[in-house]
Amino acid sequence: MKNNVKYASLLLIMIVLISTLTACGKNNGGTLTFGTNAEFPPFEFETDNGLIDQYDGIDIAIAKMIAEESDMTTAIVNMDFESLLDALQNDQVDAVIAGMTVSDQRLEQADFSIPYYTATQVMIVKEDSDVFRASDMKDKKICVIEGYTGESCVIGMGYPYESYESGTDAVMELINGNCDVVVIDSATAKKYVHDNAGLKIVEDSEAFESEEYAIAVKKGNTELLDKINTIIEARIEDGTIADFGIKYTNAGE
Ligand code: GLN
Repeated sequence: MKNNVKYASLLLIMIVLISTLTACGKNNGGTLTFGTNAEFPPFEFETDNGLIDQYDGIDIAIAKMIAEESDMTTAIVNMDFESLLDALQNDQVDAVIAGMTVSDQRLEQADFSIPYYTATQVMIVKEDSDVFRASDMKDKKICVIEGYTGESCVIGMGYPYESYESGTDAVMELINGNCDVVVIDSATAKKYVHDNAGLKIVEDSEAFESEEYAIAVKKGNTELLDKINTIIEARIEDGTIADFGIKYTNAGE
């Protein structure tokens, strides 16, 4: 009996030791905190069983991969798209991953990784729309999302527009007939058109240039940037990032 108790306690100690070691193994280097705006499917969105807490998508999978390969735990902080680069500046987050297009203006506020995705702006319209190219938006009610590159494109074209807080809000306005065209990133547009009947995508590669998504870090944080670049480079090369794209683009089809 005595021996049994001894063995049981020994076993318990071993279990505790092993689980402590395993926990440490997952989290040697602390937490890597990513800021995002989880309203940009398939890159980031909220769901019941997210990859990290309630968050899921291509960018969340990339964030998790970067943290894990750096022997760190992933944390996601969800905030307004337009606050993301400030959050980096204020050290609220270590990195920003938000389907964020690299632009000259943003390069003044943050340093960006090598790009991991190429996109373009497209137009979402109703199926019976007579918008066939960007110049057809001239007399239409245009909806954009505040602070997105789609807004800058429409400003550049000189057309009046209304801005909304999220892609979902803008697409709802289109469905309800309060606007004629939503200008938004290609992969996100595909998701909305897939999920809502009666909509289609109109492309105009002459009017909309291609854009590159990259991860932002605080200006001068070369240590983290180098780490991120090494991982992104290897995972583009071995097809992991393309696989995330396929997984989240076909999800639910
Ligand atoms: N790619 C667009 C931009 O950078 C939209 C990004 C987003 O909404 N997450 O403005």
